[in-house]
Amino acid sequence: ATLSNKIAAGEVVERPASIVKELVENAIDAESTHILVEIEEGGLQSIRIVDNGIGIAAEEIGLAFARHATSKIQSDRDLFTIRTLGFRGEALPSIASVARVELQSSTGGAGAGIVLEGGKEVKRGPAEARRGTTICVTDLFYNTPARLKYLKTVSTEAGHISDVINRMALAYPGISFQYVSDGKTILQTSGNGDLRQVIAQVYGRNTAHEMIKIDGTSLDYEITGYIARPMLTRASRQYMSLFINGRYIRNFKLAQAIQQGFHTLLPIGRYPIAVIQLKMDPILIDVNVHPAKLEVRLSKEEALSEVITTSIKQALRAEAL
Ligand code: ADP
Ligand code: MG
Repeated sequence: ATLSNKIAAGEVVERPASIVKELVENAIDAESTHILVEIEEGGLQSIRIVDNGIGIAAEEIGLAFARHATSKIQSDRDLFTIRTLGFRGEALPSIASVARVELQSSTGGAGAGIVLEGGKEVKRGPAEARRGTTICVTDLFYNTPARLKYLKTVSTEAGHISDVINRMALAYPGISFQYVSDGKTILQTSGNGDLRQVIAQVYGRNTAHEMIKIDGTSLDYEITGYIARPMLTRASRQYMSLFINGRYIRNFKLAQAIQQGFHTLLPIGRYPIAVIQLKMDPILIDVNVHPAKLEVRLSKEEALSEVITTSIKQALRAEAL
């Protein structure tokens, strides 16, 4: 593995869950409607992702692991109008540099497969003609012992992966996700597009039943989702999920805007359960600030906060009538 790949890996690939996040994002960018995630021992033993997306052409399969090779943007200017989850071309080379990776893909016709160890290609050959991509990651962090030591228990790592899949399922109710950990199905969504149904699977049916729909638009923003009735509060911010253009985002200001929507209804130290999806022109958001893309820069944060708060207040008021 080249040094720069290993350095990049440190930023993108912190733990098994970060690998799952990157690979599921790739499956989503490939327009998959079915995504299977299978892990063993919290992903430390193996991570396997099967999608039914557009696939990678046989002659491009090696290129996918080249640093900064991305099929998602063509020019610098495209950085201002990102519509895909990935665009840096860093995930596959980073993951490959710290593990053994086996990838098989097909665009519909004859497929191709490739095996890399520590970032080096060790095998290539034909693969079955099933449209989509299968990627298998094993021997994670075998060549970065410090990273391996830092990892927590199997159940902690499996929990982090669960969080990632839950968020993806909430962000994409139109995609059917199946998450299997050590042979046991932990989450399976239908992919029928019904967000409330996904909420029921993630947070339980009773919670989903108590959720109120929000729906609002302004000149620049479209906001949809569900918020829980004020009595269903939690002691952690974790239960507020915010997605911008299908990307899970952590943003203090916007989280505050959600809380403000509940105004006096939230006791101190309690947080609402909320799943909020925002859509906006990609020009209004800079996602190229953080390697894992969890943080973003927003052009009109104040205006957006206002829209969020107002939409929640409206939904709560409508409910109280
Ligand atoms: P990025 O997602 O930023 O483009 P990655 O390293 O994650 O970079 O992936 C590199 C390239 O490999 C992608 O641009 C895409 O062309 C291809 N690729 C990766 N995973 C998949 C997949 N599941 N289906 C189709 N193409 C994929
Ligand atoms: Mg990617």
